[in-house]
Amino acid sequence: MIEENYTKERKIPMSDCIFCKIIAGEIPSATIYENDEFKVILDRFPSGEGHALILPKNHVPNVFEIDPAQAGRAYALAAKLASAMKEVLGFTDMNILQNNGPIAGQTVFHFHIHLIPRREGDGINVTWTPTEPTDEQIAAVQAKLTNLI
Ligand code: AMP
Ligand code: ZN
Repeated sequence: MIEENYTKERKIPMSDCIFCKIIAGEIPSATIYENDEFKVILDRFPSGEGHALILPKNHVPNVFEIDPAQAGRAYALAAKLASAMKEVLGFTDMNILQNNGPIAGQTVFHFHIHLIPRREGDGINVTWTPTEPTDEQIAAVQAKLTNLI
């Protein structure tokens, strides 16, 4: 099989990508929005009512490989949908998150943005333990990361 038929991430054949199958209509999904570039579906195992996923129709594994302009369009769509969903479903808050790589919690290696409505007492936990670096440690990281792009 030619290289283009594999995701770069862990050489998963694209034919095995569940989101590519959803986009191709080979497995069902609850689609809530679609245009030429993106399909937005309800998560099959949602955190709660309205948990949705924005999928690019082209296979791209993660944020490290997506065209930044496409990532921008995906986030513009997230912003539009977030406001519209809020009106209809009546929630007030939302997490928008996007996992890249297994350590970061990615389980489907096709870029996707999670839209996660938040409601008081919903029990959803998006958190980490804050650390307390010294000013020198902060400055050392700043020096490494400044002017990268
Ligand atoms: P992540 O862990 O960021 O890779 O998120 C993958 C998401 O895909 C999870 O929230 C799953 O619940 C969701 N998921 C897995 N299979 C399906 C499916 N067949 N249809 C819709 N969502 C799915
Ligand atoms: Zn895919």
